[in-house]
Order: sequence, then C-alpha cells, then structure tokens
Amino acid sequence: MSDRAEFLIDLSALSSNVSKIKKECAVEILAVVKADAYGHGLIRVASTALKAGASWLGVALLEEAITLRENGIDAPILAWLVSPGSDFEQAISRNIDLGVSSIKGLNEISAAAAKFGKQARVHLEIDTGMSRGGFLNEWSELLKEDFANVEVVGIFSHFARADEPGEKQNLDQLQRFKVMVQELENVGVKPPIKHLANSAATFRDKDSYFTMVRVGIAMYGLTPDVTHMGTSKDLGLRPVGQLRAKLHLVKEVSKGSPVGYGASAFTSTDTTLGVVAMGYADGIPRIAQGAGVFVNGKKAPIIGRVSMDQFVVDLGSNNKAHSGDWVIVFGDGSHGEYTADDWGLASSSINYEIVTRIGPRVPRIYEPHVY
Ligand SMILES: *Cc1c(COP(=O)(O)O)cnc(C)c1O
Repeated sequence: MSDRAEFLIDLSALSSNVSKIKKECAVEILAVVKADAYGHGLIRVASTALKAGASWLGVALLEEAITLRENGIDAPILAWLVSPGSDFEQAISRNIDLGVSSIKGLNEISAAAAKFGKQARVHLEIDTGMSRGGFLNEWSELLKEDFANVEVVGIFSHFARADEPGEKQNLDQLQRFKVMVQELENVGVKPPIKHLANSAATFRDKDSYFTMVRVGIAMYGLTPDVTHMGTSKDLGLRPVGQLRAKLHLVKEVSKGSPVGYGASAFTSTDTTLGVVAMGYADGIPRIAQGAGVFVNGKKAPIIGRVSMDQFVVDLGSNNKAHSGDWVIVFGDGSHGEYTADDWGLASSSINYEIVTRIGPRVPRIYEPHVY
C-alpha cells in the first residue's frame, strides 16, 4: 500500500477484454506485454492473458522475455527488438522466439544456435511500408539464405496507420505482406505462423488476421485511437487501470494568486486548491493542461505547471475535499472521471504513453477500482 499514489489494476477487466477479442477474431492471440505490460505489471498481466485465451506472449526486449521465463511462464514468447550482439544463446536455451530483421542478426543467431547445438526459432520481420523494423533492402539477399541452424517459425510485419480506417497505406501494406510471404514460400521457406494485425487492425480488418493477431492496447481496455476509432466503451472494452493519488494538501487562496513554477496560471476567483501527490517523475506529463482529477463526484482541472512530485488542481469554491483524501487521476470514465484518453489529449499525446510512463514510485495494486 502506498501512502500517496497507486495504479489499481483490475485483472477481471483484462480477462474480459482478452476473451471478448478471442471470441470475435477466432485466431490465435499474441498478448503484447512489452514495457511492463504497458505499465500494468508484466507477470500478473501475462499469466492472466494466457488464462483468458491468449496463446502467445510478445515483448520488445530479450530481457523482458527472460523475466517471463524466470517467473515460470512457459508459453511461446516472441521478442522482436533483439539487436545484433544480444545474448542469443540464452534466448535459444530458454526457448524464446526471436524476431529477425537483418542478415547480421540472422547470422549471429545461426552461429549461437550452432554453438548451442539446438535450432533457434525465428520470426522474419518484413518492412511492408513503415520504414521502421524489418527486412527491406536485404530482402533479396535473405531469400538466398540457407537458414542453417534456424527454424523459421513465423513471418510478420507491422502497420503504420491501422488506427485510421480507410487509409490507403493499410491496403498497400497488406498487399505487400502477401507478396513477400509468397516470395519466401517460393524459395521453399514456409513459416506456419503469419502475423500482421495490431489492436486497431484486429477491430478493423479481418483480412489482416492471417494465423495470429498481436493485441496490446485493446487488451488493457484502451482504444487504439480515440479520435478515429471511438472510446474504449464504443469498442466494448473495459479499461484495466485506474490511477489514483492523495490530496497532499487542500487550501483556500484568493483571486489572482499565481500557481506553480513560472506563474503560468493565476486563480480567476477566490477558490480552493488541491495539491495532488504525483508529478512528472511519476509519469504525469509536465505539459498536461485540460485534464485533472476527480474528487467528490466532480472534475477538478489542473492549474499551473506540473512539478516533479506534485501538481495543483482547482477544486472550486464549494468542494468538500480534505487533505489526505484519495482522488482519481484517470479511470474508465464511468463515473465522470478523466480517462487515459483525456490525459493523452491534454498533453498532445496518446493513452499508450500515459499508461506506459507511470513511474516505478507508483505501486501496482491488483484490486478492483475504487470510487
Ligand atoms: C507494440 C506492438 C504491438 C501492439 O500494438 P497495439 O497497438 O498496442 O495493439 C504489436 N506489434 C508490434 C510489433 C508492436 O511493437
């Protein structure tokens, strides 16, 4: 228990999101648990997602995959941001599937596998138009490889604009994916697992499913894009995390008082201010304006700049809040509180960044949300 801030994680909401998605898409689900499960806690989230119907786990880093194995999780795991020079032998010994996007990476994996005396399991990442990860200029060279000591289990790519329905780039990437899969199969390499869809594509486009979908943000009950795809509620998702903090102090101030560093805001009337015991060191964006907290059934907006450990909200003139009360920073919105989407919009960002940046000083508590 924390005495100032906590992130309450409702694992029953996570289960419900996973089983809903599983039922609707009817292909294998890879639960994306990178970045400490989008801030929700790697191990608890991974085990819950597997119980709820996911059959694979996906992470960016090798160390995230190793942590899963060290905690007794033996489901298939894919780590896709494993750079040349990584500890491939450990990956192979722990049965971790590796995303490969360069010849150099492939050669190193192959050498590690030869040394270890066991085939490495790889998924070839291909660049279908995002110009980020994946084979592009080395593709024709890759097609000539003998893939010694590796088993090509999968082929995958990633959408750049899946959250924008009707965007032509999505169709282009899908076509490109099919062409590259065919080119690989033509040289006799036939990976059983083909995956392209992220959360947004899972909602939007059945043609992008192939044999598996990689679901991140939607599993946490958040919309991939509140502007183009609607809210969590519109998508039938239950937000998993509720961030709450304590009012460190409640005090009355007079009209025209400057608030916070740089005196970037002044009170417009005599009012009551609340000092919330979280700051940018805990992941509250310093530039956030237009979000705030929920207290006694009302929204209290941020006033002035967010500091490292605290920020100030305007409670208004007749709010009965007291020093030491808990307030909701964001939740599922069902009681009128701010959501992770509101915080995203308030800081020129997105819900993904809001949840993943919640800092290590904020304990994750696996309990239902509190109102
Ligand atoms: C993060 C990530 C995902 C998950 O994306 P969401 O939009 O959160 O569903 C899927 N695939 C790859 C390669 C990723 O890096």
